[in-house]
Amino acid sequence: MNIINSNLSFRSSLSWGNNPQAVVLHHAYAKVCSIEDIHRWHLENGWCGCGYHYLVRKDGTIYTGRNEKAVGAHCPEYNSKSIGICAEGDFNVEVMGQTQYSALLELTRSMLSKYGVSKVYGHRELYSTDCPGKNFPLDKIRGEAAGSGGKLIYSGYLIKMNSNLEDSNVKAVQEKLMSRGYNVGRCGADGFFGGGTLEAVKSFQRDSGLAVDGIVGVNTWTKLFG
Ligand SMILES: [Zn+2]
Repeated sequence: MNIINSNLSFRSSLSWGNNPQAVVLHHAYAKVCSIEDIHRWHLENGWCGCGYHYLVRKDGTIYTGRNEKAVGAHCPEYNSKSIGICAEGDFNVEVMGQTQYSALLELTRSMLSKYGVSKVYGHRELYSTDCPGKNFPLDKIRGEAAGSGGKLIYSGYLIKMNSNLEDSNVKAVQEKLMSRGYNVGRCGADGFFGGGTLEAVKSFQRDSGLAVDGIVGVNTWTKLFG
């Protein structure tokens, strides 16, 4: 995957501390546009520059927008907890070609894997908009990104009970347990490893023939996600 550094200049109001929990997909709403066009449009909006973290063009080239660690300007409520990827085109009236699709899929997978997250949203699922357009292959990309390429890899540390620490790996474990029918407590998959999650992990371990210690190490992780 070849990512081109766009070297855009941002206003000093750019803020840092993005903590990606998901990928949010957009279209440019313009049939042809470069990263410089988008940067200029967003500066004209009064923003500090291009609101997306990446642009995928129709020819499959990928351009950097704002830094991944910078808070985005692409989806209210999600700007500080997602990676925003924009696809060149207007997918209310166009259909995405294979070259662009492949690049978008590869970039999405690499972001999911890099941040150990599994969620892929279309902008319209989180905000009142028709972005990324009715023809955008949202379900296809979500299904394929969640396949082998987006498979969650064990992060290497023991995931233990700690009600005070929010952890995206805990959230992934909770979601997986819930999808397998285990009850992680009334807060659901909130990313905090509390008593409900502890009981769910123990039940899963018991049902799977694992040592029942309530700690998610490599064996439990592999059994859960494998
Ligand atoms: Zn959008």
